[in-house]
Amino acid sequence: MATGAETGQATPITVAYGDGIGPEIMEATLRIIEAAGARIAPERIEIGEAVYERGLSAGIEPSAWESLRRTRVFLKAPITTPQGGGFKSLNVTVRKTLGLYANVRPCVAYHPFVDTKHPGMDVVIVRENEEDLYAGIEHRQTDQVMQCLKLITRPGTEKIVRYAFEYARLHGRRKVTCFTKDNIMKLTDGLFHKVFDEVAAEYPDIENEHWIVDIGAAKLADTPDAFDVIVMPNLYGDVLSDVAAQIAGSVGLAGSANIGEHAAMFEAIHGSAPRRAGQDLANPSGLFLAAVMMLVHIGQPDVATRAHNAWLRTIEDGIHTYDIFEEGVSREKVGTKAFADAVIARLGQEPQQLTPVAYTATEGGVPAWQPGPRSVKAMVGVDVFVDSIDHSPSSLAEALQAATPEGLALQMITNRGVKVWPDGLPETFCTDHWRCRFQAADGGPITHQQIVDLLQRVGAAGIDFIKTESLCTFDGEPGFSLGQGQ
Ligand code: NAD
Repeated sequence: MATGAETGQATPITVAYGDGIGPEIMEATLRIIEAAGARIAPERIEIGEAVYERGLSAGIEPSAWESLRRTRVFLKAPITTPQGGGFKSLNVTVRKTLGLYANVRPCVAYHPFVDTKHPGMDVVIVRENEEDLYAGIEHRQTDQVMQCLKLITRPGTEKIVRYAFEYARLHGRRKVTCFTKDNIMKLTDGLFHKVFDEVAAEYPDIENEHWIVDIGAAKLADTPDAFDVIVMPNLYGDVLSDVAAQIAGSVGLAGSANIGEHAAMFEAIHGSAPRRAGQDLANPSGLFLAAVMMLVHIGQPDVATRAHNAWLRTIEDGIHTYDIFEEGVSREKVGTKAFADAVIARLGQEPQQLTPVAYTATEGGVPAWQPGPRSVKAMVGVDVFVDSIDHSPSSLAEALQAATPEGLALQMITNRGVKVWPDGLPETFCTDHWRCRFQAADGGPITHQQIVDLLQRVGAAGIDFIKTESLCTFDGEPGFSLGQGQ
């Protein structure tokens, strides 16, 4: 990205003042970073409540996209999401439209100046932002069963994992940990883990490790000092980034970045706190720390360092807004404006007890994804999903076998992943949703025409098929789970 740092010019950024406490904390944030020497040219766009009320369900004016697509840097204050249906999440819209694939959330304790359960905590959660269960592909398949597709892709995983290692290198972090549940989801989370191992090998200077997400989450909650940077698929990252921010004690102080190949968005993790709006009470630190991440991103690490160290010194000096003020620890309770003034007054100073920051480099970003050689794919069967409330496993098998064309054979039927035919147990509870696996009678490859013939005959036999999944091998490796409950 051509930046102000390289050109000597101010970098255009898009800013949105948001709702509730948004305008106050944005003003304070911009005031501090400009006093620290930020070379930025803010362009203001409108988002949030007023826009929703004008009937725009995404909460953003169409004209705002022009600024966002041009500046490619978005500093966003929180907005109030109107109650009731029909409104889309602005964050999801911006994230998806601009392809912001990485969500980065530093979770830091400021012990002993801000109350925390984990004094030494300093963990960065890097969450994949576009894939996993968040593709929003859901179906009601039968009377009893809903489905949500979990999509993990090689390009998406390579990008996020590489981003995590690049982040670690840039920020002098020693270790990247990966959380997945690949003991259960061997293909989807298995791919994430496999790609993690591959990419980790390219960064021998950075330690790497993998944890199963359940025990990893427990360890994170109990001993966060064991972690440094943690990279995760979308759902685990969504849940655990909130847990991590909460246990650091810094929910009101945490900022986050959403990074894409073409654009990036920076914001506080808290909401618009409408009850505190307009009273000069709110803590601007979350948005300010997001703005520090933005300064590093746009190539102004010197300004980021200066501003961040002055902020640390302010926190250390006990100049606190009401939300973190504690009798006996804090020295002075201040409002939003006075807090910003206190930070500005400390520009050029460093903290004495907390660790000072020293940003040195600009994010180079992650190199564009390069496809590797394509695998050799062979179709060796098909899973036909059937909706039936009337059948037992054996009567369904009988009906399907009668409808199976020559050359194919019914191999197995499962219900919720548990094999019920052949050799099922009568104790297994069955819903109306059956997976019926067909493979070539001789174990070889099958054709699309064979699947079409099968479906035609199954349909003609009055069996309600609801979807199919082709069973393929890739370079001889099965691209499907093999049996029950694996
Ligand atoms: P909230 O984060 O706004 O407030 C939770 C609590 O924290 C409140 O007691 C509030 O007073 C306090 N608080 C939050 N930020 C603070 C700050 N900077 N300084 C001092 N105190 C602060 O969460 P909520 O009340 O659940 O949500 C309020 C609105 O914000 C809702 O409309 C919600 O949809 C929206 N929201 C927006 C975003 C976003 O724009 N990214 C994120 C979360 C919530």
